[in-house]
Amino acid sequence: MLEGKIALVTGASRGIGKAIALELAEKGATVIVNYAGSEQLAQETVNEIKEKGREACLMQCNVADDESCKQLAEEVIRQYGRLDILVNNAGITRDGLIMRMSEEDFDQVLDINLKGTFHMIRHFSKYFLKQRSGRIINISSVSGILGNAGQANYSASKAGVIGLTKSVAREFATRGICVNAVAPGFIDTDMTKGMPESALAEVNKMIPMGKMGDAKDVAKAVAFLAGEDASYITGQVLCVDGGMAI
Ligand code: NAP
Repeated sequence: MLEGKIALVTGASRGIGKAIALELAEKGATVIVNYAGSEQLAQETVNEIKEKGREACLMQCNVADDESCKQLAEEVIRQYGRLDILVNNAGITRDGLIMRMSEEDFDQVLDINLKGTFHMIRHFSKYFLKQRSGRIINISSVSGILGNAGQANYSASKAGVIGLTKSVAREFATRGICVNAVAPGFIDTDMTKGMPESALAEVNKMIPMGKMGDAKDVAKAVAFLAGEDASYITGQVLCVDGGMAI
C-alpha cells in the first residue's frame, strides 16, 4: 500500500501515464499529474483520482526543458515537502527509416524521452538523497531492448533510459533509493492507435501471448516497484510485453 506517499507521474494526461497515476492513487498515494499540453485531459485524470477519494493536483511542465523541470521540483517540494515516487513516463515517437530521419526528429525524441528523464532525476535527486528514501521508475520500451526498424531515434532513447536507470541505481543504492525501469511491449494507447490493421496483425505475431497489452498491465508493474514489496530491487528492467523480449 502507498498511503501517505507523494508520487509524481510525468505525462499522466492519457495512456500509460494516466493508468499509472490512477493505480498509484488506488494504492493510497497522493498523485501529482504532469502534462505537457493536454490540460483538460490531465484535469480529468485529477478528477478521476479525487472521485476515488484520493488527493491529486495538476502540474504542467515540458520535461525536455531543464529549467521547467527545476521549477517543477521546487514547486513539488514547496507544496508537499517531499517526493516519494517519481515515475518518468512522458514520451513521444517520431518514426521513420534512418535514411530519411531528420536531425530534428532524432533530437526531439531524445530530448523528451531520455533528457527529460535525466532532467527530472537530476532536479529531484537532492531531495531524495536528503530523505534517504525514494523510488524512481523510468518507462523504457521493448524497442530499447530489441531495437525496431523505423524507430532508431526512439529505440536509442529507450536504450539510453535503461543505461541511465542502471547507473543512477548504482549511485543511489546505499541511500535507500531504488531506481528501476519498466519496458512495455505494444500497449493500446494513442501512441499505437494510428497503426493500420495489417500492421497490428503483424505486431500480434511478434508477441508470444498473441495480443497487445493494456495500460493497466504497465501500471500494475509500476505500482509493484513503487511499493514496500520491491524494496530490495534496484537497477532492473521489468518487461511488461506479453513475452516479446524473451
Ligand atoms: P501517449 O498516449 O502518447 O501519451 C504520452 C504522454 O506523454 C502524454 O501524457 C503527454 O502529455 C506526455 N508528454 C509528451 N511530451 C511531453 C513533454 N515534453 N513533457 C511532459 N509530458 C509530455 O503515450 P503512451 O503510449 O501512454 O506512452 C507512455 C510512455 O510509455 C512513453 O514513454 C512511451 O514511450 C512508453 N511506451 C509506450 C508503449 C506503447 O505501446 N504505447 C510501449 C513501450 C513504451 P500531453 O497529453 O500533455 O501531450
